Order: sequence, then structure tokens, then C-alpha cells
Amino acid sequence: MILVDIDISKLPTPCYLVDERLLVRNLEILDSVQKRTDCKILLAQKGFSMHAVYPLIGKYLKGVTSSSLFEARLGYEKMGKEVHVYAPAYIEEEFEELLKYSDHIVFNSFAQWNRYKSRVKSHPGKKIECGIRINPEYSEQEHAIYDPCSNYSRLGVTRSNFKPEELDGIDGLHFHTMCEQNSDTLERTARVADEKFGEFIKKMKWLNFGGGHHITRQDYDIETLVRTISYFQDKYGIEVYLEPGEAVALNTGYLVAGVLDIVENGMNIAILDTSAACHMPDVMEMPYRPDIVGAGRPSENRYTYRLGGHTCLAGDIIGDYSFQKPLVPGDRLIFCDMAHYTMVKNNTFNGVNLPSIALYNEKEGIKVIKKFHYSDFETRLS
Ligand SMILES: *Cc1c(COP(=O)(O)O)cnc(C)c1O
Repeated sequence: MILVDIDISKLPTPCYLVDERLLVRNLEILDSVQKRTDCKILLAQKGFSMHAVYPLIGKYLKGVTSSSLFEARLGYEKMGKEVHVYAPAYIEEEFEELLKYSDHIVFNSFAQWNRYKSRVKSHPGKKIECGIRINPEYSEQEHAIYDPCSNYSRLGVTRSNFKPEELDGIDGLHFHTMCEQNSDTLERTARVADEKFGEFIKKMKWLNFGGGHHITRQDYDIETLVRTISYFQDKYGIEVYLEPGEAVALNTGYLVAGVLDIVENGMNIAILDTSAACHMPDVMEMPYRPDIVGAGRPSENRYTYRLGGHTCLAGDIIGDYSFQKPLVPGDRLIFCDMAHYTMVKNNTFNGVNLPSIALYNEKEGIKVIKKFHYSDFETRLS
């Protein structure tokens, strides 16, 4: 972690802080995969939509993928490279505008494809390529809410529902079944997709491997990824896309928070000016325990605290941590790996303000690029 050389004492709290050096390190790893295989890597904006760094990301990646009209527009306006979109279903009134931004549109069902295909094909200007999301019915997911291959999943077309006779005009297939996984999972998943859908992949221009590839994690096996990509390129002569979200922003940012109060009820409890419910919802949803700079597991250091948010939700608990010194109001805590699936999932439950957003780079130092105000809260309600 290179955080040590950034002076965070003047940051407002709570505040997300993204370190461009760490982002560039991830982008270079992703780009090395592109260079070795000629595959194309997109940023999945769902996980990380900090558009201030889209120009930087666009120097390395080929574009964005989007889950909605707004994400498509953001990627189009702020990065201006390829814009791909996939949604479980498109909204009729939004579709015309969506076409303006999109290069690839992936449909979740043949019914959606049939509903929209003439509108895509008659769209003036550049040709928009269309794909179908397949469900290979194979995933190694441990968290049920992240498993798109579970029984009755609405995501993607299974082999038994696949309609080869309706593929005319389809340029590619897409599968997305992974979450925070290594390339051995991809290799096994891709093998199943190939067994079930290979005869159709053969007719396509591209195959999109979706996201969930933890490519920038230290123990990620890039060789297996490269081998899997090359296998499909060689066997079918197709283009391969990857669209990671988390891997782009993994370990590139922090959430700096302040201690507001210490209470005692069977144990010491610190109330922070951040909130799991509002500012790091995956801590409760996934669930997981974020690391804090200088803190350990309970009892590992002398002073153990339960860290909680300042909302009224009893379950707004981040976890139990131990520190070398007692916490006092005004102390700052630095939560690690807080760039992805945080800013994009924030909410203002309890009227809690959103954290500010700051960026660090070597040339300009630390810059607070966004602060939120009462008006941000007020305009979302009426
Ligand atoms: C969520 C999602 C991604 C990105 O997933 P990560 O886990 O952030 O890499 C990519 N494609 C699709 C279709 C998704 O739903």
C-alpha cells in the first residue's frame, strides 16, 4: 500500500480517496492481457463509475459496458470509446436514446431481441452489433445473490430455451457467471459454454466473457486467462471481450472516516461518521469485512471496538476491530479497498450525506473533486 505518502489529515470526512497510481497499476495489468491476446477489455461501470478518471481508464481499456441508459450515456460522454450495454430487459421509452450511445447491445432473451431488432437495424449511422446473453448453467458461486445460474434465474438464455432459428442478425454471445473469481473458474465455465453453445459461437463475430474476473488480484493466474482467450480465438476466429468492474478498481481507493463517539455496552463501540448501510452496503449485503489501516482482528491489538454507523439502523455495523491505542472522537480510520461497489451503491438513508470524493496523483497531489450537499438529498425526493 502506498498510502503512507499521502497526507489525509486535511480531507473532509467521510471521503473516498482514489490513488491514480494504483489505478494505473491495475490498468497496466489489464492492458498486458489485451496486448498478449488481442482481446478487448471494457470497464463495467456498474462497479465503478468515477468518471473523473474515465479519460485515464480510456487510455488503456477499449470502452465501457453499461447496465442502463444512464450508464451508457455516462460512458459515451465521459470516455467516448466503445459503449456496450446489457440489461435483463430494456425500457421501451428509453430504447431510442440508448441506440444513440451504443455500439453493442446484448439482449437477455429472444423475446427482447425480436421486440427490438428492427429498431436496431434501422438505426441510422454506425452499425450497432447485437448479442444474446446465454446461461451456461454452470457457476462456482458461493453467494446465492450473485449466482446467475441458480434455479429459475432470469439472467440469460439456457441451452433448452435457445432458438438457433432466430439468430439472424446476432453478432455475438455473452455469458456472465463469475464474481471475484480466478481464471481456473473461467476455464471450467468456458469449457461448459463451449460444449453447450459451441455450434453457435462458430457463427459469431465475438464472444463476451462478462465480468467477475479478479485479474488484478495478487494471486490471479493470468496464464490460464490468456490460454482460455486464445483457445476461443484460435478455435472460432472470433473476438473476445472481457468486462470486469471490480478488477479495474480493486485496491485503488480508501474511505476515510472519523470517530464521532465511543459508547460502552458489554464492549466498546465506536460510532463513526460513515455508515455500512449508506456508504459500504456490500459490507452488509455480501457480507464482508473491510480492512482498516493499522487495525487488526478483535483482541489482536489491545483495544477492541465494534465499529458502527451513525444511522438508526441497529444492524448498521461494520465489524469488530482492535487498535493499539484507545479510539477517541476525532480520530480518523482508513478503510481499504473502497473504490468499487461503494460510490455506485451509496444512498442517503436517514438523510446521511454522501462521502466526498477525492483523487490523488503525483503531479497534483490530493484533490477533493466532489462534495455533496443538502440539495443532493432534497432533489432525490419530493
Ligand atoms: C456485474 C457485471 C459485470 C462486472 O462484474 P465485476 O464482478 O465487477 O467484474 C460485467 N458484466 C455484467 C453483465 C455484469 O452483470
